[in-house]
Amino acid sequence: MLDAAKFDEVQRLLSANAHSGHNGSQPVRHSYPLSPGLLHCGRCAGPMEARSGTGRLGVTYYYYVCRDKDCGMRINAEEVEGVVLDRLSHLAKTKRCLGVSRPRQMLACNGRARS
Ligand SMILES: [Zn+2]
Repeated sequence: MLDAAKFDEVQRLLSANAHSGHNGSQPVRHSYPLSPGLLHCGRCAGPMEARSGTGRLGVTYYYYVCRDKDCGMRINAEEVEGVVLDRLSHLAKTKRCLGVSRPRQMLACNGRARS
């Protein structure tokens, strides 16, 4: 589970990536907010590490790869970070409701979380 500081940091880095854009004029250094230690392989559950490579057209791409060479699982960094960002945004919306104990406040929180 993410602690609050890491949560904020990951969210900041993810949105920085999201807003760095694809205007192509400047090479953007990817920040890999999910590395190290936050991402585990869906196939063997081993740790995954950040990598980058250059495609045929000279386009830099970013991915996470399983450390187990026999497994070789690889996922697109922007894809998985997009998914995580969605989850974090949802968590951020509901997180402030976690400490709420009064029924009336809970109802208010639930109403807000649904919208
Ligand atoms: Zn693996």
